[in-house]
Amino acid sequence: MKAALLVSGKKELEIVERSLPAPGTGQVRLRVKACGVCGSDVHLILHGTMKCSAYPRVPGHEISGVVEELGEGCHRFKAGDRVVVAAGTSCGECRHCLEGQENLCDQVGVFGFDRDGGYAEEMIVDERYLNLLPESIPFSLGAILADAVSTPYHALRYRGHLRAGETVAVFGTGGLGIHAVALARALGAGRVIALDVDGGALANADAYGADEIVNLREAKNPGKALKEVSGGVDVLLDFSGRAENVAESVRAMNRGGRMILVGIGRSALHFSMPFLLIERQITVGGSYGSDRRALPELIELVSTGRLDLTKSVTSVHKLEEANECLHALEERRGNPIRFVLEP
Ligand SMILES: [Zn+2]
Ligand SMILES: [Zn+2]
Repeated sequence: MKAALLVSGKKELEIVERSLPAPGTGQVRLRVKACGVCGSDVHLILHGTMKCSAYPRVPGHEISGVVEELGEGCHRFKAGDRVVVAAGTSCGECRHCLEGQENLCDQVGVFGFDRDGGYAEEMIVDERYLNLLPESIPFSLGAILADAVSTPYHALRYRGHLRAGETVAVFGTGGLGIHAVALARALGAGRVIALDVDGGALANADAYGADEIVNLREAKNPGKALKEVSGGVDVLLDFSGRAENVAESVRAMNRGGRMILVGIGRSALHFSMPFLLIERQITVGGSYGSDRRALPELIELVSTGRLDLTKSVTSVHKLEEANECLHALEERRGNPIRFVLEP
């Protein structure tokens, strides 16, 4: 089978022929039908700011496909089933895994970083990571549910505890944040405010129904700008990784508000008004990936038409175009939400 391989020290993928072993106990061989190209793949492959646990590695963590062959002990799926693969890997046995919160596992990992992913025609994957994908959802859209949609879903629903009618602010409406806008509406938010420095990303947020758009290039202070347009925010999600967006937005938070950090930044976080955190009883927390609840719930929301993500797959490409897709995403060429490979 063909695979796009990342060799240590290289800044581009090589298309190679590889053979896979037979699936082991509890594993299946999957024919990959679609794999999303994520911003973290750009950090891994083009920038080298993220690393794999071992090289060479097949990247790709937004995977859908068809079950081809079952190893011993598999019982939930059969050959021919359409599936989405959860993006995160875990031990499956610790107390967090047993509680269904795999993203709290000590051994949490990601396909395409910690084991081979979906930039390939086929892969071997544990049956426990699979979720049934109905015919009504195309493989390309099913694939991106695994991270681009499930990560903001976990942040909004299980970390932000969004309640109906509440005001939501989303900093950074790229490939992940844009879906926080769509999800906030689908989950019954009142007003949704999108903030970004990129006009194209804001146009996407507008197309997904954001009530207010704030271009942070024109705003002196992100918190003051947010306060002005929102009147007060209940759930703030930050995908930008820019410390000032969170630090300055305390002033815009309502009493009992939740500020959830998803985008990874590098600078220190200093709150200019810590007394407001205390007086308003504001929660500040992080959110990483999602757990086993996300994919079944999202598949239901999409297949019933409650969540319309038809604008999210910008274009589909052959495996051989993987490098080109990474560069196009890095340069935001064509204002993409998600490029998807169809190996
Ligand atoms: Zn990702
Ligand atoms: Zn575990």
